[in-house]
Amino acid sequence: MARRVGYHVNRPGRRHGDDDVQIPIAADLKSTPGTPTRDNEITYYTREYPLESVAVEHSASSLWALDVREDAAPETAELYRKHQSEIEPVVEWLKSTRYMEPTADPAPGKDVTEAIRDKARELGYGEVGFTNFDRRYIYKSKREYVRAELKHAICLAVEQDYIATQSLPSLDAEEAHGEAHMKQAEMAKELMEFIHSLGYPAQVWGPTWHFGPMIPLFVQAGLGQLGVNGQLLSPHFGSRARLQVITTNALITHDRPVDYGVTKFCELCHICSMRCPGRAINQNKVWFRGVEKSKLDFRRCRPVMTRYSGCGVCMKVCPVQRYGLPEVMKYYVETGRVIGKNSDNLEGYSLPDKGYFPPGRLPKFEAGFFDMPMGRSEDLVMDEYRERVQELNGDDGREALWDEFRTKLDDALQKRDIPVDMGMDLGG
Ligand code: SF4
Ligand code: SF4
Repeated sequence: MARRVGYHVNRPGRRHGDDDVQIPIAADLKSTPGTPTRDNEITYYTREYPLESVAVEHSASSLWALDVREDAAPETAELYRKHQSEIEPVVEWLKSTRYMEPTADPAPGKDVTEAIRDKARELGYGEVGFTNFDRRYIYKSKREYVRAELKHAICLAVEQDYIATQSLPSLDAEEAHGEAHMKQAEMAKELMEFIHSLGYPAQVWGPTWHFGPMIPLFVQAGLGQLGVNGQLLSPHFGSRARLQVITTNALITHDRPVDYGVTKFCELCHICSMRCPGRAINQNKVWFRGVEKSKLDFRRCRPVMTRYSGCGVCMKVCPVQRYGLPEVMKYYVETGRVIGKNSDNLEGYSLPDKGYFPPGRLPKFEAGFFDMPMGRSEDLVMDEYRERVQELNGDDGREALWDEFRTKLDDALQKRDIPVDMGMDLGG
């Protein structure tokens, strides 16, 4: 049944130079601009339980994934190794941007928001927005790297290749993911030079080397809303967006969060949670660290990602990723339905050793598939040491055990610098 249009959202076209698009939002999809949050809770959790990266917080499963992937998906393991050698110099460059300085003096009182936006779009960024650099989202291990005086965040999204992404989970899609990272690196260099030429400093975050979770800033900058799949649903390419942030103290004007109707739309879609091979996406929303969201179960996701080329079924089956938000919302207004729902075209996917899964069918996994060490690898080494010390008889062997423990601990801490999966995250 057709729906009444509540309002329209105007956005720049998908590529630089394209006409603007007007997205009709049905009246029954209206909710909150951005994401529902409780500001005081975000502050409380930041103070009492500071955010930390997956690479640090879940380093035990990162090491586990390296071994398991080698057996289960050797070609993916090889691709990740190749990507790591390409991304290492990029990460070194990203770390060095905090020391770089402007190459000109700023024009007094001149707002440079649109100059930066135009330049970024011209370089190929699909989405560009400006917001406050909210320091509550900085990982504990990254605080020492952040230039504290840069108060603004420029949020930049690059579109990953469309065709390759539709084959998720696959090696092709992961190659496209890696190519998007390399594209981000090239474009950020040019944009940073441009900001320097305007007379302002700029620190670049991403790919791979991030200050913290970036989605909250993108939502705040009006570049999309948080989907049930835990990803940013941006207007033109949904979650097929690779995110980057440049912090600066340039004279700019902040954008505002937008209600694209995504929060309510997800409540009637739920394709990602129904199609997830690991049953890792919780349909019911919870309040977590001051944000209302569908919480993803890491213990059920990572074992699937590890064995199936980073998985990404939740990205592949999302109609906003597949058809773009303007089409999704127009179809909803005309029919009251979710475009592509229950179709093989949108919901079908294959797993190499298990075959094709049409809508309504999910794979089954053998016992032990989801067994995975949790927490930090150094804590596991410590637990093992404690147990073995208790088993020792007197002082015999205590010194040898201490040497072994120190070697294992060094190894565990060093391996935190290995990028998680396809360079999604990197330890301190
Ligand atoms: S990556 Fe795969 S297993 Fe993980 S949440 Fe998405 S669909 Fe589920
Ligand atoms: S698949 Fe549906 S429920 Fe999941 S994020 Fe996309 S729109 Fe939201």
